[in-house]
Amino acid sequence: FQEKDLKYIWHPCSQMKDYETFLPIVIKRGEGVFLEDINGKKYLDAVSSWWVNLFGHSNQRINDALYNQANKLEHVIFSNFSHEPAIALAERIINIAPKGLSKVIFGDNGSSAVEIALKLSFQYHQQIGKIKKTKFVALTGAYHGETIGALSVGGVDLYNKIYKPLLLDVIRPQGPDCFRCPYGRNRNNCNAECFEHMEKTVEEQHEEITAIIIEPMVQAAAGMKIYAVKYLKKLRKLCDEYNINLIADEVAVGFGRTGEMFACNHASISPDIMCVSKGLTAGYLPLSLTIMTDKIYDAFYDEYHTMKAFLHSHSYSGNPLGCAVAVETLKIFEEENIIKKNKIKSKLLKEKIEEMIEDIPCVGEFRQIGMIGAIELVKDQRTKEGFDWRKRVGYQIYKIAVKKGVLLRPLGNIVYFMPPYVINDHEIDFMLQIARDSILEYLG
Ligand code: PMP
Repeated sequence: FQEKDLKYIWHPCSQMKDYETFLPIVIKRGEGVFLEDINGKKYLDAVSSWWVNLFGHSNQRINDALYNQANKLEHVIFSNFSHEPAIALAERIINIAPKGLSKVIFGDNGSSAVEIALKLSFQYHQQIGKIKKTKFVALTGAYHGETIGALSVGGVDLYNKIYKPLLLDVIRPQGPDCFRCPYGRNRNNCNAECFEHMEKTVEEQHEEITAIIIEPMVQAAAGMKIYAVKYLKKLRKLCDEYNINLIADEVAVGFGRTGEMFACNHASISPDIMCVSKGLTAGYLPLSLTIMTDKIYDAFYDEYHTMKAFLHSHSYSGNPLGCAVAVETLKIFEEENIIKKNKIKSKLLKEKIEEMIEDIPCVGEFRQIGMIGAIELVKDQRTKEGFDWRKRVGYQIYKIAVKKGVLLRPLGNIVYFMPPYVINDHEIDFMLQIARDSILEYLG
């Protein structure tokens, strides 16, 4: 199987020249928090297969919802036609979304949700007929997806450098860095002093800025950087002051991952546009929603109350299977009290990780929010100097852990976990024991 995979499939993210031998692990089945490969070896999926499998693999309720929907309607064109699962999903999401969000547009994945948000915001300022605002603001280190618009607002050189001539006009103020806070503060009791970079950017260029896009509470690809709630509160205020749209990219952090249903809830703020995907279908099907306020939606009417065009649709927009699965996912949240249970579980996760890293040398910081835990390893604990990135410390640990049967993820000098919400005590212990052994084995 591996040979055929290599012959026919390009895995762009893992087949890079600086990666060591690439051998895909071919997975045959999944159940609960475990994946099983074609040789019968099991792996604990400690990253919910990249934020998506919230309830583990092969969840019976979702399986049933999927099969039931497949037996009724697998797909229908979404232009001039609609269907029950899409309507039910839209209603459910509006009921739980931050206040003021009132209308959804369907997309296929996180990148397309971001793409729609950028297009909406850009066109919004033309619709309301004010100054032509053509610039976006995104933080350094931001990650918002892989399509050209989403890449443009991404701030990770590795992903977008080569495409620079194609990218949108984006201003990139320095983002928060709580572990190495230049103000010597702590994320839990600071006044988000680092917001001054954003403030300055907006004060100087607000006439040209259409939207600010942000990953609320956690800049994931930037290094699982968890930042202060105050930053978001200040950002909302600033956007209001200058009539700039705030786009919350909840693609990764939405659906309970940070301990609240949406990460914006930590700061009790509502964005003008919110993007969700990943956990929306609990790992079953690609689907996304771009959710907006009346302010945005109403701008697309003229004085005769005739809708002006916002042109965006995909062949699979509002796919009934995806919608039915998403409805079931949201039902599980409600009926099984997932957010409440997560709060208890995340406390346990925090305690257990703290215990497991207690005597590991080189731990710079352990940071955690909700069901996300990240360990940053450093060369020097006192100065916080990191290891040379070329050593790819996280990646070396990741490889050892995979061999031992736990799939965690590396990010530079960081290894992180975000297990399915259904993980039990025993499985948490197993996951952390392997992570600990792998870190120690690497450190020698
Ligand atoms: N935004 C954020 C914050 C993400 O983490 C991701 C995916 N990692 C995306 C957007 C893009 O989502 P997708 O991979 O589904 O296109």
